[in-house]
Amino acid sequence: MGSAESNLASNLVRTATSMPERPAIKMGGQDISYEQLHGLAAKLAGSLRASGIEPGDRVALILPNVPAFPVAFFATLLAGGVVVPMNPLLKAGEIDFFFTNSGAKVAFVWPDFVDEATKGAVTSGTTIVECGPMGPVEGVLTDGDPIAEPTEREGDDTAIILYTSGTTGRPKGAELTHDNINLNAMRCAEVIQEITPDDVIMGCLPLFHVFGLVVGLNAAVRVGASLALIPRFDPAAAIKVIGDEKVTVMQGVPTMYAAILNHPDSDSLDASSLRTCASGGSAMPLEVMKAFEEKFGCVILEGYGLSETSPVASFNLPGRERKPGTIGLAIPGCEMRVVDLDGTEVAHGEVGEIAIRGDNVMKGYWGNPEATAEAIPDGWFRTGDLATQDDEGYFTIVDRKKDMILRGGMNVYPREVEEVIYQHPDVLEVAVVAVPDDLLGEQVGAGVALREGSTATPEDIIAFTKERIAAYKYPRSVWLLDELPKGPTGKILRREVKAPTAP
Ligand code: AMP
Repeated sequence: MGSAESNLASNLVRTATSMPERPAIKMGGQDISYEQLHGLAAKLAGSLRASGIEPGDRVALILPNVPAFPVAFFATLLAGGVVVPMNPLLKAGEIDFFFTNSGAKVAFVWPDFVDEATKGAVTSGTTIVECGPMGPVEGVLTDGDPIAEPTEREGDDTAIILYTSGTTGRPKGAELTHDNINLNAMRCAEVIQEITPDDVIMGCLPLFHVFGLVVGLNAAVRVGASLALIPRFDPAAAIKVIGDEKVTVMQGVPTMYAAILNHPDSDSLDASSLRTCASGGSAMPLEVMKAFEEKFGCVILEGYGLSETSPVASFNLPGRERKPGTIGLAIPGCEMRVVDLDGTEVAHGEVGEIAIRGDNVMKGYWGNPEATAEAIPDGWFRTGDLATQDDEGYFTIVDRKKDMILRGGMNVYPREVEEVIYQHPDVLEVAVVAVPDDLLGEQVGAGVALREGSTATPEDIIAFTKERIAAYKYPRSVWLLDELPKGPTGKILRREVKAPTAP
């Protein structure tokens, strides 16, 4: 039997009732209380229903980190709908695929992206609803009676569909259920970052990405903490928010930590309010971790997860031994192991693929039973990430399966080489990638962005790495880039770093 409590939006209703005055969102010096957020979401939920959105219908969000995002997110859930968060930078062709594939009836869209979304809605007939900072402009949806109490849902009904490239192929919609998100948000709040209503969480991760959406927004709403939003990551804005709002909880991908650390404004930042920092999404270079901790006097705990695992699967849990360079232990409710191609667990210390089972694992890929069966062949979700596990249960990511470089029969894991290159004082960012090679099949190459004013040459970096790593691993070619290509959360996109072709 479904119930209102099983609906993820019940967290908002509960917090708005018990702590109505508490700021839910902080932005640009303005606070939006839990009572206000609930009121806005309930009103919009009524409009969605009056405009024909029934439980189970899909509603897309094409919004930056503005209050309209949580308003539209919880409105959709209150009405029993399914949220489809989308990257605002998608082009019409991609939007067309997401709209058509998900069958989105309505899309809430930020003004800058309305043109592209309108072009992308031709096939699907999705209704585009333009949004200002607090919610939709009047007149597109029909007004209806507010829906203040969540529409009944089953815990394993889908709450959001998150498009991800997964381990292979074109984007697939990971279906995350109300339970998936609610339980992961609970663990993020209670176990991982020990969040209380007094906390102010840095909202610099995009809310359309699972990390910002669950670890940030939904964890905050569950306990009544505040989320200090910046529309789009920018180190200067993040530094200002940390100081102005006395941020206590930081969440980010490694490039965010590096950008804050290397920004001149950070020299005068009083970061004494920062209580706990979580990093995930890609490997945290040890050099960045150390330098950030020394400069700001706070500890960074690294974790690991994927869109398909809602997202957090493992973490260097507070109160347990921290092992920098590892992604920690499997979190409560989640089992993680390292398996071979047949799904058999390998011995500790041996490299295999991470497989995950637990209440955070998605229901499946939307409308794609073949891809679901391939990803979850035996109840264990195959992540495509290669790792080892030590005797104490800590996992160390070796690399992604498909990023591995096969150099004349020898496996080279880009991450290991990157760690060494990061030790060079002039290196700001690096991505190690395969370069086609007639003789060896693949050769090791590295795209490098240098710190401002540095004079290191590609030859210097090759020589530096050669001294510190086995001969088959050091890059034979290094090329300099102004900056490295990044995804929506700021993750470096290795696969888009290509060696320059000979003139
Ligand atoms: P996404 O689904 O976009 O969140 O991407 C998930 C992928 O990010 C995983 O499959 C990993 O390859 C990578 N990832 C996440 N956390 C870490 C981490 N701490 N270290 C290395 N890779 C990570």
